[in-house]
Amino acid sequence: MAKRKYSISISDKRCRSCGVCWEICPPDVLTWQPPLNKAIINNLDACTGCRLCEWLCPDFAIVVRAEETQRREPAT
Ligand code: SF4
Ligand code: SF4
Repeated sequence: MAKRKYSISISDKRCRSCGVCWEICPPDVLTWQPPLNKAIINNLDACTGCRLCEWLCPDFAIVVRAEETQRREPAT
């Protein structure tokens, strides 16, 4: 079975560099970028789509989405 892919968007405006997301992400997908230490994506391929980062970000800066998988053709 193919591995499911996810996309992560992080709002630079909302992020306040608290570190919650990169501390709780189990596979270390997220990290920070100096000098402001805003959250950035480090290793998207490792994302499991658990959405812990989205749920726990106190500033609602992260949105995780499952990318569309192959569409099934409608029955005729
Ligand atoms: S948890 Fe939210 S506010 Fe905190 S560093 Fe991550 S994206 Fe930024
Ligand atoms: S959805 Fe889960 S695995 Fe993916 S970046 Fe967020 S905490 Fe990490």
